[in-house]
Amino acid sequence: MAVPKRRTSKTRKRKRRTHLNLSVPGMVECKSCGEMKLSHRVCKSCGSYKGEDVVAN
Ligand SMILES: [Zn+2]
Repeated sequence: MAVPKRRTSKTRKRKRRTHLNLSVPGMVECKSCGEMKLSHRVCKSCGSYKGEDVVAN
């Protein structure tokens, strides 16, 4: 069985884990109500998309 010759140092481990960061979802401000919403999605609070009401409340 293959066994690591050297112990992975703290620095090397941390450098490897810099690529494991989470990405923030693309949030934009809603044009009609000003709430933060996901881009290219219908607004959750007012139900509008591209300035038009698409969800009947
Ligand atoms: Zn809205």
